[in-house]
Amino acid sequence: MDTTPTPTPDSAREKVRRSDAEWRDQLSPDEYRVLREASTERAFTGEYWDTHTKGSYRCRACGAELFTSREKFDSHCGWPSFWAPLADDAVVYLRDRALGMERIEVRCAACDSHLGHVFEGEGYDTPTDQRYCINSISLTLVPDED
Ligand SMILES: [Zn+2]
Repeated sequence: MDTTPTPTPDSAREKVRRSDAEWRDQLSPDEYRVLREASTERAFTGEYWDTHTKGSYRCRACGAELFTSREKFDSHCGWPSFWAPLADDAVVYLRDRALGMERIEVRCAACDSHLGHVFEGEGYDTPTDQRYCINSISLTLVPDED
């Protein structure tokens, strides 16, 4: 009997589902706090806020490609900032009223992990005037090969 799963076409994004215990097992405590509990790393402390390396940024929890260095810009806000995700369906959006103000939370579409927030109309000189303010710890940079 052939039990090989049918390969999924690249366009259909696979959902990643893990139990809370599995996430705790896989992620470091700091990664878990941000990715699974929507905490925020302190500004200017993350690995990638000032990184200019060419490459793609993947979800640290599930490895899905989320952003690329082409859309990364210097916002000087202390977190990696992008003016667009790699693809429209790479991320999902949720309303977040946690701090008494309404913000739009950004999550990985594949595994539902917290990435950061998106802000709009701040006057940055970018094609969209959006700032995807993403925690470094939610990402893994995979540098392009020369
Ligand atoms: Zn993910």
